[in-house]
Amino acid sequence: MYLQQLQLQDFRNYRQQEVIFSAPKTILVGDNAQGKSNLLEAVELLSSLSSHRASRERELIHRDRDQAWIRATIRRWDVERQVGILLRNGGRKSLQVNGQTLNRHLDFLGQLNAVLFSSWDLEIVRGNPEYRRSWLDRVLIQLEPVYGQIREDYARTLRQRNALLKSESRDPEVLLVWNQALIKTGMRVMRRRQRLIQRLQPLAQTWHHQISGGQEELTLSYQSQVPCPPTDATDAWIAAFQEQLQRLAKAESQRGTSLVGPHRDEVDLYLNGIPARLYGSQGQQRTLVLALKLAELHLIEEVIGEPPLLLLDDVLAELDLHRQNQLLDAIQNRIQTVVTATHLNAFAAPWLGSAQIYHVHQGSLRL
Ligand code: ATP
Ligand code: MG
Repeated sequence: MYLQQLQLQDFRNYRQQEVIFSAPKTILVGDNAQGKSNLLEAVELLSSLSSHRASRERELIHRDRDQAWIRATIRRWDVERQVGILLRNGGRKSLQVNGQTLNRHLDFLGQLNAVLFSSWDLEIVRGNPEYRRSWLDRVLIQLEPVYGQIREDYARTLRQRNALLKSESRDPEVLLVWNQALIKTGMRVMRRRQRLIQRLQPLAQTWHHQISGGQEELTLSYQSQVPCPPTDATDAWIAAFQEQLQRLAKAESQRGTSLVGPHRDEVDLYLNGIPARLYGSQGQQRTLVLALKLAELHLIEEVIGEPPLLLLDDVLAELDLHRQNQLLDAIQNRIQTVVTATHLNAFAAPWLGSAQIYHVHQGSLRL
């Protein structure tokens, strides 16, 4: 798929900006705080309808305005489509495809797929388990947009069960009902995350070997208090979930919160059997995340049938020239890539030779 054109109106620090993507690689270069990440964020919104760095939608709209537009022309399966997101201050966002307003978010997700790699993603290795869970959830939404609904169902169940655990009048009969709901919605999330890890693992391993040129063995595994069994053992799985709930019943009522379920699960990342977070340099951690991102990219391509966009925010210039060239080999001209940087001198020559370069200054772009 190819993002041909992007139009921003009152989005973050942009007032009115059109961007034409005329080469498979685009570099956005500029000083700090000029709008480079903001532009990638707009593309991220088109692909996932969420931003990893905005806590409230209000932040996305220019501070002097009440609404913002992100519009784009996307070519997919050789068909051109116009898509648009209208963000409103204090209102719901409105989504359009070819001028038609869509009622469901689900129908908009999947118009554009993108893999974003920013320094924030280093938290996948270094940060707390929530970062890893959220990474899996973001990938799953791209692979299967309905997963957004599945995760929301679980989150709602969890909120209601927690409210019950906190309340004074904790009716055991009602709790039993919420236990069933937690198990039912939780297993849907866990099964998908587990399958995702199984599919990412061989891809990530291969990429890690290739980029690092080393012999280190990368392993990923999904860790849960109620491990997911082979597909047809659902009854045993439900029983194991119930057993955990019973075991933790006292602790849950004391603490007033749910202590078992996918919101407590974890992804283990190991290099040669050692937790990657304890392992080595920033460069090694960056290499690992790059391997995970390339695995993500190739899995999306495999499932969707077309390569997604790759968005690299401030990370390429941090890689040494060997790793930059490995990355270039991996993406070639097949994968449309948008890269941000504050300087061009850290780029390997082949990147500069084949890319279109935009200079970003105070929310405005020039070639
Ligand atoms: P860096 O190199 O530091 O990462 P950047 O070019 O990626 O910089 P961005 O994060 O894209 O910078 O843009 C930050 C700028 O956008 C800041 O000047 C910030 O004040 C401005 N900005 C962010 N949100 C809004 C908004 N809602 N309205 C107006 N300006 C905003
Ligand atoms: Mg930035």
